[in-house]
Amino acid sequence: MQENLPKMPPQAKCTRCRARASVSLPSHNSRFCTACFLHFFRTAVTRGIKKAGPEKETPLMVAVSGGKDSLTAWAVLDDLGFETRGLHLNLGVEGYADASRQAVAGFAASRGLPWSEYSLKQEFGFSLPEIYDILHYKICAVCGKLKRHFLNRLTAREGYPCLATGHNLDDEASRLLGNLVGDRQEFVKRQYPFLPSPHPAIPARFKPLYRLEIKEIREYCRMQDIHPVQGSCPYATGATSHYFREALEYLEEKMPGTKRGLLFNYLRKPKELGFSGGFTPCRICGEPSLPETCPVCGLKKRVQDMEAKRNAQNRNLKKSDSKHTN
Ligand code: SF4
Ligand code: ZN
Repeated sequence: MQENLPKMPPQAKCTRCRARASVSLPSHNSRFCTACFLHFFRTAVTRGIKKAGPEKETPLMVAVSGGKDSLTAWAVLDDLGFETRGLHLNLGVEGYADASRQAVAGFAASRGLPWSEYSLKQEFGFSLPEIYDILHYKICAVCGKLKRHFLNRLTAREGYPCLATGHNLDDEASRLLGNLVGDRQEFVKRQYPFLPSPHPAIPARFKPLYRLEIKEIREYCRMQDIHPVQGSCPYATGATSHYFREALEYLEEKMPGTKRGLLFNYLRKPKELGFSGGFTPCRICGEPSLPETCPVCGLKKRVQDMEAKRNAQNRNLKKSDSKHTN
């Protein structure tokens, strides 16, 4: 798979201004010089905001993991004049969590932007490695659920009405494909770049980079001297979303524009953004929830039960070992 945008022959001209081109975008059938690429990139974000996005006066919380997508989303929103604050949830993954935090801190300091940091261990009672150690499976699905709920809750707790995330066109197209293949209609119908707030304690959600591909974001980072965390989360290999992403990448290589076509054709359909039921306070934590017990409390109970079972088994093993040795 091609990781970066194709290299330019020295005589190639920018499609927009006819200066020397530095990047080629096959899915747009265009080549750009650095200045015109930056213009193209910001225009893609403003176009998305005009179609469906927050008002310019809306203060935005930006979820920042320290990766290239979230730092780029923060950078563009700041460049476009939004009032922003970064929100970093430390998952407690040894080595990677510190590097991610440093990337966020470095970026925020370079632009003088405010940010808040929270820890999954403190908010949920277990870090991500501890959860994996107990559950052993589908860690990305569990992690995704926890991040979604905690980022919403923390945004509301800090008094921000809208949360921006770094999801890009590749994320959205591959997720859409996965949801269509699995016939997960509940998720399909909520896969829009802007979801209005469904409850006073749940912020609106916005994906400013949904019109931009990974390769374009990588190029933007390079041109803007943004330094995201290097490497990837050690649990990333288990995610099934990679298969859909690779399948789409293959189609994109054969037929440039496929990813864009899949996602944008879907987004043109009439929207149904409502939730099927009403929210009530979770009977354990009081956060707004559709079921009686919210998904976070349900998951916590499962992790606690499995941990208790594992501890009991270990105690029994120790007892029987000491019987045998006596
Ligand atoms: Fe969470 Fe999976 Fe992403 Fe790691 S790769 S941060 S486990 S969703
Ligand atoms: Zn709850």
